[in-house]
Amino acid sequence: MSTAPLLRIEGLEVAFADGGRRIRALRGLDLSLAAGERLALLGESGSGKSTALFAIAGLLEPGAEVAGRIAFPALGRTPEAGRDLGLVFQDPFASLDPVLDVATQIAEPIRYHLGASWAAARAQAVVLLRRVGIARAEQRARDAPHRFSGGERQRIAIAAAIAAGPRLLLADEPTAALDTVTQAQILDLLDGLVREQRTALLLVTHDPAVAARIADRIAVLYAGRCVEAGPSARLLAAPRHPYSRALLAAALDLERPPPRPLPEIPGEPPDPTAELAGCPFAPRCAFAWATCRSERPAWIGEPGDGAACHLLRP
Ligand code: SF4
Repeated sequence: MSTAPLLRIEGLEVAFADGGRRIRALRGLDLSLAAGERLALLGESGSGKSTALFAIAGLLEPGAEVAGRIAFPALGRTPEAGRDLGLVFQDPFASLDPVLDVATQIAEPIRYHLGASWAAARAQAVVLLRRVGIARAEQRARDAPHRFSGGERQRIAIAAAIAAGPRLLLADEPTAALDTVTQAQILDLLDGLVREQRTALLLVTHDPAVAARIADRIAVLYAGRCVEAGPSARLLAAPRHPYSRALLAAALDLERPPPRPLPEIPGEPPDPTAELAGCPFAPRCAFAWATCRSERPAWIGEPGDGAACHLLRP
């Protein structure tokens, strides 16, 4: 069995033109994901986590400047959307066609990627609707998406995303628009499905409680870079980077439901158009000293378990 990672990202940079400005969404992102692993990209709005997911999916807007490398060593080829990559968005309408019945939308990737007949694909679609918890799946398979609740639509979008058995499921804030109870149900559903299918999951979230619930590993992004990564148990119990500590202290108490809206860390993320000297978190960091403002901190630790902070230098 291959031990090559499913996904490897090296020095990924992405910039967009916005009027006369050049927005630097990613500034040298390094990441790796093993087959079957569940990785959460965690960070505030503007940290670059959704841009990373869209870059992996090949869905960056035309004109985006991209440098660095995205590779799928375990596949040995360019992944195909639908067959190798499944996508779940915050708004299920982003992936569901409003006029087609839901069984057709789930059956389409089964027919196209797995070569099944329409009858077999539709029968499998009903099985999947049942698996994701849609009541009376056989009858409701002929309904269009608007006839379902928000939580049901997200379940259907997940069924469509996993229908062809992708190796990697990319999920962009899949529960951010849902109430707390539905959010927990959808996360448990995702968790069960990726385990059953041995699908790797890359989940983007701004909510540490979501990452804590589902991820084997967490990568914390700030200003377009990974500032800390590690096994969830280690990172949640003993975060090493001051930004991770602030993010978790503000939002994570595993004994209680998370506060809504999530508390914010004082200060602002850096200007996305600016050149950054030193540590991008320095203006908000209680531990910053002169070196932090002039030298970019190196990664300390293992590639998948460490942090970029001068405090950690031996
Ligand atoms: Fe804070 Fe300095 Fe570490 Fe950046 S490098 S997080 S400013 S201590």
